[in-house]
Amino acid sequence: MPAATLKDLLVERILAEGPLSIEEYMQACLYHPEHGFYKQLNPIGRLGDFTTAPEISQLFGEIIGLWIVDCWTQMDMPTDILLVELGPGRGTLMVDAIRAIERVSDMPIDLHLVETSPTMRAEQEKRLSATWHDSLETIPKKPVLLIANEFFDALPIRQYRKLTSGWAEVCVGIDASNTTFELVDIELSVEEYPLVTTTDKNIVPDEIIEICQQGIETIGQISRHLASAGGAALITDYGYSGSLSGDSLQAVASHQFVAFLDQPGTSDLTAHVDFGALAAVAIENGVNPLGPIDQGYFLTALGINIRASMLQKNASAAEAQDVDLAVQRLCAPDQMGVIFKALCVTDREIKPAGFEV
Ligand code: SAH
Repeated sequence: MPAATLKDLLVERILAEGPLSIEEYMQACLYHPEHGFYKQLNPIGRLGDFTTAPEISQLFGEIIGLWIVDCWTQMDMPTDILLVELGPGRGTLMVDAIRAIERVSDMPIDLHLVETSPTMRAEQEKRLSATWHDSLETIPKKPVLLIANEFFDALPIRQYRKLTSGWAEVCVGIDASNTTFELVDIELSVEEYPLVTTTDKNIVPDEIIEICQQGIETIGQISRHLASAGGAALITDYGYSGSLSGDSLQAVASHQFVAFLDQPGTSDLTAHVDFGALAAVAIENGVNPLGPIDQGYFLTALGINIRASMLQKNASAAEAQDVDLAVQRLCAPDQMGVIFKALCVTDREIKPAGFEV
């Protein structure tokens, strides 16, 4: 008998337990210990399934490195500073950031990486010397400068649909032939209504809201660390603040959009980040959220164009054109410049670069 695929396992589970929440489905597709998407050798980058800002150009990580040095300087250069990254992927951002940090400052590098995927951790070990953690809980209680790029969008979400009266959870069920996954609404009982923690009063029947519980817990941990030990965090991702996203789930394989419920475990599943919800948790924990601001604005304010011209000085015509294209891709409003945003959270009155106003 051929080995069970992730789809077989999920079909079996739904037949035994009933429909899965989207959170359970995403958790299995992305992080199943044997069949999850992040078990693959090369999920990220040009040769992988999806690409991220640091994989597009070294400029992204370098600019983040300069942002880190600015924060460290405003914090009066603590010598016990920790550099922390959540979900470092292939480690590219941090390699580029550290090169920039070392070029412009004497900031000591004590690197702590939080990564749950053993495959991604092995990739990072090839390029970085660091202490690895399964969660933020084990990071030493010292001031941190923390980076998370395209981390929160990779955390599973739940979806709820407003009904004329009450709410339903959108779940993953299976059709009558037991072969094809389909989305089904499961009505919530009144006791379950508090699961839908939205403060938005303008939601009309049939509208969908998304809640990322793991994201809320993670920003809570970051905020409590900042409140007790000090520092700043920079969260860059695609998302929204204030207005509802509706259904923002997407699946990408080989750089193409694919159907969310097709071939579980073979595509990158993501949801837009609710920056408003993250900022609210920061405030609840007594630290200051700044932004979110558009990624294009952030990178431009930190001098991406100046750094691009420096790179182009020693470049061939083709390389110089690549640099221009990368800046366009990262900053142009119709590319990654507006849909991607940067949120800063800090425990003190510093004004990190880009967030001055
Ligand atoms: N920051 C990288 C990669 C983003 S992909 C980049 O910009 O290229 C998301 C990363 O987060 C992967 O490395 C994934 O394995 C990791 N990850 C996902 N959930 C996690 C969790 N709960 N804790 C730690 N790392 C996690």
